[in-house]
Amino acid sequence: MFAEKDFLLLSGIQHFAFCRRQWALIHLEGVWEENARTAEGRLLHENAHDAYCPESRGKTVISRAVPVFSRELGLSGECDVVEYHLDSDGVPLAGREGKWTVFPVEYKRGSPKEDPCDALQLTAQAMALEEMLCCTVPEGALYYFETRHRQRVPITEELRKTVRDYAEEMHRYAERFYLPKPKRTKACGMCSLKDECLPSLSRLPSASAWNEENLGGKTE
Ligand code: SF4
Repeated sequence: MFAEKDFLLLSGIQHFAFCRRQWALIHLEGVWEENARTAEGRLLHENAHDAYCPESRGKTVISRAVPVFSRELGLSGECDVVEYHLDSDGVPLAGREGKWTVFPVEYKRGSPKEDPCDALQLTAQAMALEEMLCCTVPEGALYYFETRHRQRVPITEELRKTVRDYAEEMHRYAERFYLPKPKRTKACGMCSLKDECLPSLSRLPSASAWNEENLGGKTE
């Protein structure tokens, strides 16, 4: 169990899953390069949160910008939206009659991705809500602004295990203030910190370009 002073940002799990060095640059070194993509994402989130005010729609209550934390994971942050659905299989909610199931929704710019980064962030939110409300959150959703589509995400045991493993690893890195070395992967092309990460990284010739320049394209 982690003390509050040791909590790390829950949203960092998506950065950690994307690239451990990117996570360390943002969350340990405080580097943040706002580019068009991150600015757009921030504005979309702010707009989603602007409407804050729990609203009831029939048998559903919608809360926005919900603060969450998990002592087990040592993470804290905010859910864009949490929906509570009136359901006899749910749990009691303070100030509301009946029982309610809990369904987190995370808003994302762009469209659904092949990697699990967004699903891992949603899973960490679901695990925090389970710990706080003594409930089970079997699924949540990711809403993508570009496609205006809500994708349901089952909170599987595999995702939960990855979140637990990553959270543990993030705390080990944070304790040692460890900044991993840069390693060029295909993720670097989409990285908002590629210029800050290591300017020379982007100037390094690719293996085929080096081969072309130095060996005239010949290989042994
Ligand atoms: S440029 Fe590549 S190695 Fe550097 S932080 Fe981004 S993804 Fe990681």
